[in-house]
Amino acid sequence: MIPFVDLKAQYAHLKTEIDDRISKVLAHGQFILGPEVTEFEQALASFTGVEHVIGVASGTDALQIALMAEGIGKGDAVFLPSFTFTATAEVVLISGAEPVFCEVGCRDFNIDVEDLKHKIERVIDEGRLTPRAVIAVDLFGLPADYSALEKVSEHHDLFLVGDGAQSLGARRGDKRVGALAPATITSFFPAKPLGCYGDGGALLTDDDERAAHYKSIRAHGKGEAKYDIVRTGLNSRLDTLQAAILLAKLTVFEEELEVRRRLADQYDDRLNDLVQTPLRDNTSKSAWAQYAILLDDRDTVAARLKEKGIPTAVYYPKPMHLQPAYSRYGDGEGSLLVSEDLSRRILCLPMHAYMDDAIVERICNTVRGVVGV
Ligand SMILES: *Cc1c(COP(=O)(O)O)cnc(C)c1O
Repeated sequence: MIPFVDLKAQYAHLKTEIDDRISKVLAHGQFILGPEVTEFEQALASFTGVEHVIGVASGTDALQIALMAEGIGKGDAVFLPSFTFTATAEVVLISGAEPVFCEVGCRDFNIDVEDLKHKIERVIDEGRLTPRAVIAVDLFGLPADYSALEKVSEHHDLFLVGDGAQSLGARRGDKRVGALAPATITSFFPAKPLGCYGDGGALLTDDDERAAHYKSIRAHGKGEAKYDIVRTGLNSRLDTLQAAILLAKLTVFEEELEVRRRLADQYDDRLNDLVQTPLRDNTSKSAWAQYAILLDDRDTVAARLKEKGIPTAVYYPKPMHLQPAYSRYGDGEGSLLVSEDLSRRILCLPMHAYMDDAIVERICNTVRGVVGV
C-alpha cells in the first residue's frame, strides 16, 4: 500500500533540523509560550504577508476564539458551507449561536455566494436570529471567493472569517491565505499542508485589536498582568515543541507546495478525460491539501483501488445539514443538492510532497484501469 500522506518520508528528509529544534526546546525547558512560539508566529506572518499570527492549540480552537472575540453567541446566526469538516459547524454551536448551512459551488466546492445572500435575507425576514458572521472554508486548499464574500459581509455588517485549515500557502490574486479576510484560521494537524506532530493551529489577522483579543483569549482571558482576567478565555496555546517542529518544516514549505502543484498538474493531465478533476482558474493557486475527483461509482472504485494498493479518502461522506448532531438547524435531505451530490461522488487520491511522478503515474494507471469497469 502506498501512503496517503507520507509523514515518515518528510521526517527522514528534515530529521537533522527537526531533531535539532526539538533538542533546543528540551534544553531550555520553556514548554509553554517559549521563544519558538514567537519565532514561528513571526516567520509565518512574514510568509503569509499578515501583521499578526497567534498560535493556538488547534484549528478548531482558532475558529472558536475568532467567534468568541466578536462576542458571537445566543441569538446570533453564523453562515457556513454545509460541505465542510465538522469543526466549522461545531464551534458555532459551542459559542451558543446557530449555524445556517449554505450551498457550495459544484466546481470549486466553496460557499456559494448567491445562496449565502439568499440565506442572509431569509434570516432577516424570519427575524428570530441576528446575522453576525460568515465562515468561508477553503476546501481542499482552494481559497473561497473572498472579494465577493467581503462585499456581502460588509453590506450586512457581518464578521468574515476564513477557515484556512486546508489552504495555508495558497494564493488568490497577489495575496496569500491569511491576508484574504479580516481574520483567518489555520490548522497544523499532522496531515494538513503545514502540519506539526500533534494538534496545533493559528489565527492570522492584520487587525491589532483582534490580535490582542486572540492573545488574551488563548491564555485564559488575561489582561496586562498575568492574574488580571479581563474576559472569559480558554487554555489554548500552541506548544513550544510544536512551534519548533513547524519552524523546521516552514523552511521547506514553499518547495513542498511547488511539488504538490506539479503532482496536481500531472493528475489533471492523466485523468481529466476520464473523471471530473478539480477546478483550475487563473486567479488562484491551491495549497492542494487534497486532490479530489468526482465519480458516480465512487465506493466501488475506492474498493478496487484499495485492493490494488492505492489508498483513497472520502472528504466528506455526509454534509453538515444531514449530520444527526446538526440536522435540526438544516432543511433536510434535498435542501442543498450540490453538497449532497458531492458527498456521494467525491474521492480524494494520495497527495503529499514526498511522492514522485512515477507513483502518480502508477495511481493514474490504476484509476484508469478500474473506473467504468
Ligand atoms: C482540519 C480542519 C479544521 C480543524 O482543525 P484542527 O486543527 O483539527 O482542530 C477546521 N476546518 C477545516 C475545514 C479542517 O479541514
